[in-house]
Amino acid sequence: MSQLQSLRGMVDLLPVQTRRWQAVEAVARTHFRCAGIEEIRTPLLEVTDLFARGIGEGTDVVGKEMYSFRDRGDRSCTLRPEGTASVVRSVVQHGLLSQGSQKLWYCGPMFRYERPQAGRQRQFHQIGVEWLGVGSARSDAEVIALAWDLLRDLGVSGLELQINSLGTIDDRQRYRAELVAWLQARADRLDPDSQQRLTTNPLRILDSKNPATQQLLAEAPTLLDALSEESSQRFQAVQAYLAQMEIPFRLNTRLVRGLDYYGHTAFEITSDQLGAQATVCGGGRYDGLVQQLGGPATPAVGWALGMERLLLVLEAAAAADPEGAAACLAATRAPDVYLVNRGEQAEAVALVLARQLRAAGVCIELDGSGSAFGKQFKRADRCGARWAAVIGDEEAAEARFLLKPLHNKGEERCLAMADWQMVIDILACDESDITTATQFDQQ
Ligand code: ATP
Ligand code: MG
Repeated sequence: MSQLQSLRGMVDLLPVQTRRWQAVEAVARTHFRCAGIEEIRTPLLEVTDLFARGIGEGTDVVGKEMYSFRDRGDRSCTLRPEGTASVVRSVVQHGLLSQGSQKLWYCGPMFRYERPQAGRQRQFHQIGVEWLGVGSARSDAEVIALAWDLLRDLGVSGLELQINSLGTIDDRQRYRAELVAWLQARADRLDPDSQQRLTTNPLRILDSKNPATQQLLAEAPTLLDALSEESSQRFQAVQAYLAQMEIPFRLNTRLVRGLDYYGHTAFEITSDQLGAQATVCGGGRYDGLVQQLGGPATPAVGWALGMERLLLVLEAAAAADPEGAAACLAATRAPDVYLVNRGEQAEAVALVLARQLRAAGVCIELDGSGSAFGKQFKRADRCGARWAAVIGDEEAAEARFLLKPLHNKGEERCLAMADWQMVIDILACDESDITTATQFDQQ
């Protein structure tokens, strides 16, 4: 029988990876908490109409990337391809905006039927932020700063922030007409995909990766030049705030986002480590979406960061600097104590001791093999624990156990089972010794 495999583009995360993922999520959580942003969790499955209406029928995501099917009640359902539409749906459904503006974050899997390659999967993961009910230029800058600082604190370097303004709907309509006329006169120089987009989604042509099209676009009219005075001033203000926070950025007049709901500020953070799939984080303002999905007219801004791409960048950063922040993220935490035990009575007592110590917050790994003491000690050494607790039948019969130092200086002790709590004090002393020693080293 052939070996069962995961579906193409659906990737398992093994312990060596989940370690780094958890660390990234923990840093992100801290950033969000410090900025007063709360977590929202929405279902993975939504009615198809949410994305068709929210993201736009003409987009690649809705046009060809969605996992859609009919459920047993004949409803058209879709595995979420992104988080924003679901967050907005949820906020509207539960009337959260009546309590004021909402600062929310989410993380979890998204699904898009794309051609899998490095940094592009069919199930991928995003961490995202959505601020609903805030419309100022300052909030755009603050939201961008949040993404920038998070990536900085994770130890990622070689990043570039690119920004653009997509203006208002009127600005875009005016520009679209201008762009289409300009491109139609040169349609023979466009790649077939872009020719098709001339009628379906002309602004997306700006994002084409085709070299000949890119060359042509270098001379095309830009959206920035087509902005109204008001939109232009708003964009100037965003740039001034970024400059004040000393966040470097580059204007990219061809930056358009893949989803139709964006207007005014759009941005991407790219890495020089990722080749073709360079965008780690993308976002912008989407003032029309809440109303479009049946809620009150509400300005909003947000971003989503691709976890898989971020992890690729972090792995590169960790390899380049083994002592740096990115490398530390993947460090394993060894147990405090490894419990070596052998013999029928000893094994039963060890089970109880491990449970007592865990309840008191000690990380203790119980050897469950029943193998010879020598083998168990080898494993204890390998796992990096600083102490081994040892119980043989002799110790078990006398209701005691040994606590032996492994990688640390300390002295060996024989403790009564009833005094198991002394382990906590011994570990605490040991910890403070380490801190003192490190402080001393640094002086
Ligand atoms: P791209 O142009 O790379 O397809 P996008 O504009 O479709 O990106 P968004 O919808 O803005 O991407 O999603 C935000 C981020 O999520 C991207 O910048 C990227 O890091 C990540 N992302 C998007 N699609 C995928 C995918 N199929 N696999 C892995 N990560 C992805
Ligand atoms: Mg895409």
